[in-house]
Amino acid sequence: MRLNNYIMKLKTVCYELHEYFSIQPRHISVCPQCKKPFKPPVEMLEFWGLDSSKNTNFMKGKGCFNCLGTGYKGRTGIYEVLVIDDLIQKLILKNNTSQEITRAAIQAGNLTTLKENAAEKVRQGITTFEEASSAVLV
Ligand SMILES: [Zn+2]
Repeated sequence: MRLNNYIMKLKTVCYELHEYFSIQPRHISVCPQCKKPFKPPVEMLEFWGLDSSKNTNFMKGKGCFNCLGTGYKGRTGIYEVLVIDDLIQKLILKNNTSQEITRAAIQAGNLTTLKENAAEKVRQGITTFEEASSAVLV
């Protein structure tokens, strides 16, 4: 397959993945002026696949003058990342469906899903569970 054909097929797969996961590229960050540590309920941690004993920094904005009382200020991206290695490249070239490619990428650890990326941003204290939910549960 020529390079142009490969790139066209790759664009199609990326478009289909984008449609499949409903990517929401911008989300709101916790206000740095009024953020406070937050202890989430166990059910929330289970849903997001997080463990509070592992280097977590959960934060929530209390609301201040800087954020107009919302607890949020600024934006952060929540993304899906598909690493295209030899396996994924072969599946793309063989015209496998985007669902088959997604399944193979997840099994090989080559795909960071929106939920995983959102959970990581919450774990780091960049955004909240509520804001992450708006990215994942659309
Ligand atoms: Zn604030």
